[in-house]
Order: sequence, then structure tokens, then C-alpha cells
Amino acid sequence: MSERVAIAGAGLAGCLLATLLGRRGIEVTVYERRPDPRVAGAERGRSINLAVSARGLAALEQVGLKKQAIGRALPMHGRMVHPAGGAPNFQPYSADRERAINSISRSELNASLLDAAESTPGVTLRFGRRVTGVAGGRLLIDGEPGDPADVVLACDGAYSALRGSLDGIACDQDFLEHGYKELTVPPTAGGDFALDPDALHIWPRGTLMMIALPNLDRSFTCTLFWPKDDFTALGTPEKVRAHFEAHYPDVAGLMPDLTGDFARNPVGSLVTVRTLPWVRDAGGALVALVGDAAHAIVPFFGQGANCAFEDCIEIDRCLDETGGRWDRALALYQDRRKPNTDVIAEMALDNFVEMRDRVSSPAYRLKQAAQHALERRLAGRYVSRYELVSFTTVPYARIPGRIRRQNLILGAAASAGALATWTAVRATRRAVRGRGRPGP
Ligand code: FAD
Repeated sequence: MSERVAIAGAGLAGCLLATLLGRRGIEVTVYERRPDPRVAGAERGRSINLAVSARGLAALEQVGLKKQAIGRALPMHGRMVHPAGGAPNFQPYSADRERAINSISRSELNASLLDAAESTPGVTLRFGRRVTGVAGGRLLIDGEPGDPADVVLACDGAYSALRGSLDGIACDQDFLEHGYKELTVPPTAGGDFALDPDALHIWPRGTLMMIALPNLDRSFTCTLFWPKDDFTALGTPEKVRAHFEAHYPDVAGLMPDLTGDFARNPVGSLVTVRTLPWVRDAGGALVALVGDAAHAIVPFFGQGANCAFEDCIEIDRCLDETGGRWDRALALYQDRRKPNTDVIAEMALDNFVEMRDRVSSPAYRLKQAAQHALERRLAGRYVSRYELVSFTTVPYARIPGRIRRQNLILGAAASAGALATWTAVRATRRAVRGRGRPGP
């Protein structure tokens, strides 16, 4: 008998996974709590654009969407850092200045993935269905028994209702005191980008960081990452305007609707979710957590969606390796992915500090220039953490070890170099002294 497979959530992971499973000949039904966003428009309060990099593109390639995604993306080859009281400086992401992360519209990407899932034989999409649990081998839709299901894949995001309904899952939700709010820099009167579109812009202001990513309509979406209390402290349009003119003077004048955007747009939360196990026999079905439902991370490395896509590819691979045995495949999926998602969760938190504080320091810029010089000299042997995360598909869990080894080798090379130099200096000194000494 073939299993009845249900997916909760037609977001980024749910749609990709449905397409991959459909292609394997598996009948799968996807339940999405929202109306079809292709008809109803995108939901407010989600990030407008996403930085998609090597991992996400490799996954999209598996379902034939990479070319389309790249065609609609704006490449960002580096960071444009806007220091307080100084001129902006561009910091390329790669030593060769060729590599870029891609600013992609979340709603467009979701729509392409919905189209791909819908056109895959065996995949059915059901909108306006909120999955709340599983009982007696049936999905619960808004608490009421719905369709039977043997395998249920929870792709219902960071605040997964399905995860919450399961017993025996340890779940730690670690909220930052920071929230985020999005604002818009529209195109100039002449219809051009108001900032350089080839960069991810950062205004590092300690706890009051702002970033901006370009959109295809030549606007930028700015995201404020502030302690939540600081949003409420700016209670009037005058205070908002004055704050921006004081802290982000080069961009305040580019936001004609700053105060309206600030008042209208919600403050979102930033959470790291750590769960285990990801797979449970529950309510007569095998249930597995996927994407943000298993491991939501903060967005400071631009990896949450990339990482969720990797989960889907891994499930597909595990089904291959286990001859389609769901119990074994999902156990293997958890074993392989959990160490990786733990590592990227920590790196994402660490990158928050890098973006909001370190990027503007001269020492950071020197270190980055040195790293790039090493990457050029030791091509393929020395690769920075940023490049390993964003421009390769090296498993995240291998990255810290590789960085440690690279640093050890570098340290050894530096010491060997220093020793050689010291030995040469001593030999030269001896020779010089020897020449100056009277003969025997
Ligand atoms: P989601 O995209 O959240 O999809 C979940 C889906 O499930 C939604 O469609 C939702 O409506 C549906 N759903 C929810 N509950 C139910 C239910 N009970 N029943 C049925 N359906 C349900 N990642 C990057 O890679 N790059 C970035 O630049 C980046 N920037 C980000 C910026 C911000 C401000 C934030 C907050 C996140 C960012 N991320 C980024 C992370 C990325 O958005 C997530 O990791 C990604 O969306 C996870 O995909 P998912 O499919 O697991 O969850």
C-alpha cells in the first residue's frame, strides 16, 4: 500500500517538498492556512525579499527553477557599509569580486514554487485549511478530523501548530529582544535606484541596525533590527523623522513615506527554534518537522530559506537511499540535518554581532582584505566562513572545523615563516659579525 502523504504549509519548504515527492510518483496533498497568495496577494508582515545563495539555488535547480529565479534576482556582490558620520564603503563578498548573493522577491518565489507544485502530477493544493494536529490517522483541520494521512510533513513555519500539538518534542524558542520592521526606499523621480543595487546595504548602529536589499521595481526594502522598546519609544511622526535624520542621514531623505511606513508596518519577532526529535509516531501517523518548523534561525546570515530548501533535498535523497521507506528515511533525515542546522543557527546569531558592530571597524576591514588576499593565493585551500556558507554547499556542520584547520595551518605557516626569517636574520648577523672579526 502506498502511504497517504500530507504536507502542512505551502510556503517555501512545503511547495518544494511537494514537487520533489510528486516527481517520485508519491500522491501528496498540501494544506495551507492562507488563501492562495497568487490570487489573494502576499501576506503583510513577512519579509518582502530574501537573499538566496548557493544552497537555495542548488535546491531550486532540482525542480528546474534555478534559471527562472536567477532571471528575476538582483545580484548583490558585497556589502555597502554606511558608517555613522562617514562615507559608505563597499566590501566585496568574495576575493574575486565575482560571487554574489541574490535578492529575490519572497512572494514571487513562493508563487513559482506553488506553480511548480500544482503542475506536478500527484500533488494537490488545498488553501484556507489550517492544520492543527493529527488524531486517529487523520489530519485535524481547525480541530476537526479531516483527510486520512499516514505521513505528515510539518512545513508550517517557525510557530508550527503541528509541532505544538505533538507530545514528546522538546522545543526551545529563543527570542531576541530585537524585532524587525520593514520600510521602503522608492525609486528616484527619474525611475532609478536611489542606492547602489549591487549591494546589501548596512547601517551598523550597534543595537539600532538597518539593512536594505534592492527590488526589481527599483525600490529598496529596508529592515530595521531594533530592540522592540525602541520602536514604541518613537511615538510620533516628528520623533521618527528626527531619529532617522540623526542616525541614518544619508537615507532619511530617500524615504518620502517614512513616517507612514513606520506607523503602518508591523514589528516582527526574531526567534531561534531548537527542537528534538524531529520525527514522531503520533496520532496514528508518522510526523516530521521540516524547515523553520524544525529549526527557525535569525536572518543575519540570509540562510533560513536556503537551509529549509536543503532539508527538502535531503528528504528526497534519504527516500532514495532507503528504497522509499518513510520511517528509515525520516530518521536518516533528522540524523543528517540536525547537526547542520544547529551550526547555522549559531553562525546566524554570531553574524548579527558582525553586521551591527564589526563591519564598520578598520580592524574588520583589514582582516577581510587579508582573508581575500589569502583566498587568491591559496585558491580552494583557504576559503572564508562567509564564502563557505553562501557560495558552497559544504555541509554547515563541517564549516567550523574547516575554519579551525585553516587557521591552524595559517598559524603554522606564519610561525614557519617567522622561524625561517629569524634563522636567516641570525645567520646574516653571524656572517656579518664573522666578517668583521679578525682572522685566526
Ligand atoms: P514559511 O516560509 O514560514 O512557510 C510556512 C507556511 O505554512 C506559510 O505559507 C504559512 O502560511 C503556512 N502555515 C502556517 N501555519 C499553518 C497551519 N497551521 N496549517 C497550514 N499552513 C500553515 N532566509 C533566507 O534564506 N534568506 C534571507 O534573506 C532571509 N531573510 C529573512 C528576513 C526576515 C525578516 C525573516 C523573518 C526571515 C528571513 N529568512 C531568510 C528566513 C526565511 O524566511 C525562512 O527560513 C523560510 O521562509 C522558511 O520556510 P518554511 O517553508 O519552513 O516556512
